[in-house]
Amino acid sequence: MLPCRILGHRFRFSSEGSTMRWECRRGCGTAGEKSYASKEDAARYARAFNREDRDKLGRNKLTLSLLPLRLFRRFRR
Ligand SMILES: [Zn+2]
Repeated sequence: MLPCRILGHRFRFSSEGSTMRWECRRGCGTAGEKSYASKEDAARYARAFNREDRDKLGRNKLTLSLLPLRLFRRFRR
């Protein structure tokens, strides 16, 4: 999927017992899972990765909002 190639995947992390799972929110089919020693660990890592994913998304939004301005300047030359 094109948005995934440009912006990277938007993973949603969740935990099921001691297994952490993730899948791409855009439905491109990219998914995975990882086992942890305990279900507390799996839940903690899932929460941490979800937070990181949101931070990354905020930066992507900033980059995108600057893009039209750059294009506009290029066309004026
Ligand atoms: Zn994806």
